[in-house]
Amino acid sequence: MKINHLGIAVKSIEESLKFYQETLGLSVKDTEIVADQGVEVAMLPLGESRIELLQAIDSTSPIARFIEKRGPGIHHICIEVDDITKKLAEMKSAGIKLIDEQPKRGAGGHLVAFIHPKSAAGVLIELVQRTEGDSLEH
Ligand code: ZN
Repeated sequence: MKINHLGIAVKSIEESLKFYQETLGLSVKDTEIVADQGVEVAMLPLGESRIELLQAIDSTSPIARFIEKRGPGIHHICIEVDDITKKLAEMKSAGIKLIDEQPKRGAGGHLVAFIHPKSAAGVLIELVQRTEGDSLEH
């Protein structure tokens, strides 16, 4: 396992890039709209992992609600696993509170699932599994 990326909720990707791109010197590898999750995503590789900037595409987006409640900031940590279905089953039988009991397609078409912060010391955890034929190359 390793940290695949850190998800950061931002009001504006463009605005945030002034720091992450111009000041820190990271570059944007991919941008994508994940309509299912109501977000626009920008991925910035950083060492072995990446920073994922998340901007709401409408007011019903979970990111819009997050920012309303807590302001912009770290939204989730994404951990890469070999077998997401197996991991979810193990967690479920251990009584872990899952947001997604089944994996779904996230950014980049990868299989992802979220674990409820109540079971993870207050942190929203995303699991991701590399899918055949695609790469999570950094
Ligand atoms: Zn993520």
